[in-house]
Amino acid sequence: MDFIGGQWVDAQAPDGVLENRSPADLSMVLSRHPWAASQVEAAVAAARRSVPGWSGIELVRRIGAVLKKHEEDLARAIALDIGKPLWEARTEAQACAAKAAITADEGMKLVSGFPAPGQTGAECRFRPLGVLAVLGPFNFPVHLPNGHILPAIACGNSVVFKPSEIAPHAAEVYARCLEEAGVPPGVFNLVQGGPAVGAALSAHGGVDGVLFTGSWAVGQAIQKANLGQTKLLALEMGGKNAAIVLADADFDKAVYDVLFSAFVSAGQRCTAASRAIVVGDAGKFAKRIAQLARQLSIGHPLDDGVFMGPLASPASLDKFDRGLAAAGEEVLLASRRVNPRGLEGCYVTPSVHFVQNSRNTPYQREELFGPDLGVYPARSEEEAVAIANATEYGLAASVHTASETAFDRCQRALECGVVNWNAPTVGASGRLPFGGLKRSGNHRPAALWSTLYCAAPVAVMRGEANLDRTKLAPGVAWVDE
Ligand code: NAD
Repeated sequence: MDFIGGQWVDAQAPDGVLENRSPADLSMVLSRHPWAASQVEAAVAAARRSVPGWSGIELVRRIGAVLKKHEEDLARAIALDIGKPLWEARTEAQACAAKAAITADEGMKLVSGFPAPGQTGAECRFRPLGVLAVLGPFNFPVHLPNGHILPAIACGNSVVFKPSEIAPHAAEVYARCLEEAGVPPGVFNLVQGGPAVGAALSAHGGVDGVLFTGSWAVGQAIQKANLGQTKLLALEMGGKNAAIVLADADFDKAVYDVLFSAFVSAGQRCTAASRAIVVGDAGKFAKRIAQLARQLSIGHPLDDGVFMGPLASPASLDKFDRGLAAAGEEVLLASRRVNPRGLEGCYVTPSVHFVQNSRNTPYQREELFGPDLGVYPARSEEEAVAIANATEYGLAASVHTASETAFDRCQRALECGVVNWNAPTVGASGRLPFGGLKRSGNHRPAALWSTLYCAAPVAVMRGEANLDRTKLAPGVAWVDE
């Protein structure tokens, strides 16, 4: 169902129905959602009517408390919708409640206004933008939209949320939390649907900003559809992330960090490492990763001890298979489809390739968004950084080295928004800005900094209330009546 103007409503004349099957067991239908692009009109109108007039920060704290209370419901919904193992889905659910406190306590400080130093009566204030559309990806179907929605509400905007069509059930559980927290009618609206609904919403003239997390291709489509419009576009997009392993790194620690970065969430993270660039014995490193990847436990997301669940949908599985078939690199570990416990789901085992030469092929350039790692040999730190930067994306990287000086050098040279030292590429802090360069984003980092694009700075100068005749501009002859 959709949630519009404080009411749960079904599309009256649906364009279609989202049949939400769990990728963990495709025979399991989690929910059905009739959808219609026309619902966008009603949702934007409801959001527009609600502006302004509520205490955003107080509301966000209440939402945080309700998200905390329903953490387990959210985690289970995420796990079944997209196949993320429960332990990992729980960390996503926990991040949602934590975001409320981070926004209220720290994010809002960034938009709290400030005086112009040494200039009496001059100050910066911040105002809401109005109606913000939030478009979510499937891989963090609640945490990432929530990372836009809470700052948007805290800053006094109203929101229309279009979740991923792969995770409508988790989105509905989330929306019910906001309803329980007492969000005023129209301040938060949920519209279910796929690309057609996303396109209608993001191009809508009544929307003042689009907060989008997803692929570069769809980010491009949103930019094109908004040519000539003045709305704000905050685009968080893909990555082709590299882990650089220097010769002085602790071998086992680097292997573990890279293994985790490549295969957690079955490789379906924007920050997943799809390339390990190794200075030293890259062959030994690649063989060890392949050996450990073969042992990773793959299974139903609700089962204990599972590291990797299925891919999120049959379409994700087909895209991954097609990408591997075209890889054209030496295969150290071949991926295969599997059926844990006899389940018909989207399960696949990890793959590892050895990439002798950088050739700018689609495999080396594009996201596969699945559990695959390419290991590249490099003769020097400089060559490793050059290989890492030889992509049009610029989201995350990691550098594994005992030397802080070497890390600092690499960090400055890497064209990325997240660079971790002796830590997985997938580690990110909600208390720091998060976003990428090049095709990974458009210079509007999210996480802590999302309040900055949810509010517009307004420069205010205060003048004298009464006319001072001694301060008239030259050439103005003031004559009293
Ligand atoms: P996607 O781009 O296919 O879809 C994202 C959202 O856009 C969905 O809600 C979808 O319905 C909607 N959409 C599709 N076509 C649209 C159109 N023409 N106009 C408007 N909206 C449209 O992404 P996905 O497959 O759900 O997620 C995976 C992608 O997201 C990967 O590229 C991944 O790297 C990226 N991602 C980036 C970040 C980040 O913070 N940078 C985080 C997570 C995921």
